[in-house]
Amino acid sequence: MKNIVAIYPGSFDPVTNGHLDLIHRGSKLFDKLVVAIARNMDKAEALFSMPERKEMLMAMTGDLDNVVIDTFEGLLVSYCIQQGANAVLRGIRAISDYEFELQMALMNRKMEPRVETVFMMPAEQYSYLSSRIVREIAKLGGPLQGLVPAMVEERVRERIAQRHISAPRKHLL
Ligand code: ADP
Repeated sequence: MKNIVAIYPGSFDPVTNGHLDLIHRGSKLFDKLVVAIARNMDKAEALFSMPERKEMLMAMTGDLDNVVIDTFEGLLVSYCIQQGANAVLRGIRAISDYEFELQMALMNRKMEPRVETVFMMPAEQYSYLSSRIVREIAKLGGPLQGLVPAMVEERVRERIAQRHISAPRKHLL
């Protein structure tokens, strides 16, 4: 029997119901799933620190025995080899994700042929959901119900109130 260890990389700022949908699907498919928070986001735009993101992810996945949460820096494929992982899990929401994901997957394969990228689709109701859109809705005072777990919603609201963030309107929300 093959032992498939997959890495699910992302910024998870914050974790959304779309991420959790993928984590649940991945935990059924792989022997072990490492949710890996990438330390590469523009700090000025970040809502939560790495330890905060990790804590929220841990709280939301505590019931999944084969899921662990970690952080990483540098090349994803180097981290995969270091973890003994043979797969990368990525989510595809819409056609717009495809081009970028294809480029990443093929470049990662070129650098490290031992690691295979696996794409999964979330449940339809999460196909328009991203952490960025959650941050924007929250900054504009909109509802987050159904987009993130209740505990995450509370943390997002607290953080926005603390920072007195008002919305620089970027999109037509
Ligand atoms: P964001 O949520 O802002 O798009 P992340 O870097 O945290 O960004 O995403 C990490 C991975 O999770 C990516 O593969 C992304 O495609 C996937 N993902 C994010 N949101 C969803 C969702 N709603 N459904 C499926 N996959 C998703």
